[in-house]
Amino acid sequence: MMYDVLVVGAGFFGSIFAHQATKEGLSCAVIDKRSHIGGNCYTRNVRGIHVHEYGPHIFHTNSKKIWDFVNRFANFRQFTYSPVANYKDELYSLPFNMWTFHQLWGVTSPAEAMQKIEETRVKCDAPKTLEEYALSELGKDVYEKLIRGYTKKQWRKDPKDLPSFIIKRLPFRLTYDANYYHDKYCGIPDGGYTQIFEKLLQDIEVKLNTDFFENREYWEKSAKTIVYTGPIDAYFDYVYGELDYRTLEFKHVETEVENIQGVPVINYTSEDVPWTRTIEHKHFEKVKTDHTVLTYEKPVEWSKEKTPYYPINDDHNNSILAEYNKEVKKLSNVIFGGRLAKYQYYDMDQIVGSALVASKKFLANRSI
Ligand code: FAD
Repeated sequence: MMYDVLVVGAGFFGSIFAHQATKEGLSCAVIDKRSHIGGNCYTRNVRGIHVHEYGPHIFHTNSKKIWDFVNRFANFRQFTYSPVANYKDELYSLPFNMWTFHQLWGVTSPAEAMQKIEETRVKCDAPKTLEEYALSELGKDVYEKLIRGYTKKQWRKDPKDLPSFIIKRLPFRLTYDANYYHDKYCGIPDGGYTQIFEKLLQDIEVKLNTDFFENREYWEKSAKTIVYTGPIDAYFDYVYGELDYRTLEFKHVETEVENIQGVPVINYTSEDVPWTRTIEHKHFEKVKTDHTVLTYEKPVEWSKEKTPYYPINDDHNNSILAEYNKEVKKLSNVIFGGRLAKYQYYDMDQIVGSALVASKKFLANRSI
């Protein structure tokens, strides 16, 4: 045994776990199959612009403890997330709020907005599909211009064939409040996210471009405890079947132009544009440069070789997951953590919180 703990995956879960264990005097190593640390939160410095390589990441939380923890590793600037929707070159405020309804119908009061929604609503007593739910909650205009095309591209499925729970996450307000998140704390780290991981992993042995499964026997023998943050189905060699994910392609374009879109994120809601979002990273930190980087985010069909981004927690996948979770319970020296090993969508603050709890529990049990 070379280490007390081997951590598979240098994202938030793995890096925090390794950091906490090292602080308590344990020997840790971290491996990641990617060429960099930070997992999906990694930011790449392109001449002073911190590019969110795997999609826009906004840190938001209601927990002071989690906020204080991340602020030890970077200075977060206050950030209000107000993306713009582009539907065939008509622009709308997001998330759905009084500005959106004014832009759609020219209405100025909540009562007028409700009246318009009511007029276009397609009533359904027990909406099962996403389309039925959206039509009955927000009406035809909002659905056609702002939901249908975007959802179809995002899920690569017709909203008629998608369950309604997916859309229940979308905020809808009758106030002039275009702030996506209502958490107590919301920010972007000045200087990007990667510095957080560099500080977390300082003095810890990190091996990049190293896939756990390419040398599994070696890595399993290398430590008393393994913290695994990769996909749960891969760990068990897919014995109960493969889990499905949504995946994305990111195309980053660097241009010698000061400002292309004037806002960090635009959602393209019509079907005739292939990408779902464009991200102009410099606006997150209000960086002043003569160049810019624009990223096109495009959902593509999932296959096992691609990067898993979003779990699809429908009945089929959840029943496979339940079988894997039974196997997890039988293992005493492996800790499963993070969004891939749990097969759940988690925001960063939830991952930070769960890594702090899991490492504390592990360290407490160890010293008994
Ligand atoms: P990851 O960051 O995925 O880290 C897991 C690591 O394990 C990866 O680096 C991977 O390479 C490595 N790994 C996997 N298998 C192996 C293997 N076999 N061998 C070695 N290494 C392996 N959250 C927010 O709070 N706000 C946002 O605005 C936000 N935006 C998002 C946008 C997108 C497009 C996506 C996909 C997610 C977003 N999130 C956001 C969620 C956020 O990315 C996650 O909460 C966080 O990254 C999860 O951390 P993690 O450590 O669990 O996983």
